[in-house]
Amino acid sequence: MITIALSKGRIFEETLPLLEAAGINALEDPESSRKLILSTNRADVRLIIVRASDVPTYVQYGAADLGVAGKDVLNEHGGTGLYQPLDLNIARCRMMVAVRDGFDYESAVRQGARLRVATKYVQTARAHFAAKGVHVDLIKLYGSMELGPLVGLSDAIVDLVSSGNTLKANHLKAVEHIQDISSRLVVNQAALKLKHAAIQPMLDAFAKAIKK
Ligand code: ATP
Ligand code: MG
Repeated sequence: MITIALSKGRIFEETLPLLEAAGINALEDPESSRKLILSTNRADVRLIIVRASDVPTYVQYGAADLGVAGKDVLNEHGGTGLYQPLDLNIARCRMMVAVRDGFDYESAVRQGARLRVATKYVQTARAHFAAKGVHVDLIKLYGSMELGPLVGLSDAIVDLVSSGNTLKANHLKAVEHIQDISSRLVVNQAALKLKHAAIQPMLDAFAKAIKK
């Protein structure tokens, strides 16, 4: 049995065409089904539906052989025990620093002010500001980061941005680009060896189907 870990929403939707290219079709839709284990047209392949940030954990421990996870999530996880053979070029967005419209970020940084930064991406934020030599107090959040600067929780946020509409709607502006983000295929290292005959053709099919 090959188990593939996916999260609901954009990753599931954007991974479906890649699975199809490998001859794998989901028989149920996670948006309408409450099931967490979905069967496919192939008796030897199943999908499990987990939180986006839990995908690397399931694959690391071998509870899933393969998974699809954002670079953002992989950076936070650290990647222990995982092969990351393919950038699938899906769920593309950017990791950015953002502040309130009126906040002079450049001069705060220039003056060496200690910044309060709210984010779900603590490891990424820590590495970014350390590399810039900016002192920060990091405040861990689990969502709705845009609220932080509006209610005085933080001076800045580190968050994913695609269109920028959410920032705009909340009177925030992006002031620094940290990293381009897309989703990667992750593979359990032991599974790649032990189930090579089943997994390698899938990797080849995904690689051929990736949109540049
Ligand atoms: P949860 O909702 O369970 O807390 P999440 O918000 O990280 O998790 P999604 O919003 O489905 O889950 O995001 C899944 C992945 O898609 C993220 O890890 C990231 O790589 C990518 N992503 C997030 N936001 C965007 C976006 N606005 N545009 C494109 N890709 C995005
Ligand atoms: Mg989300």
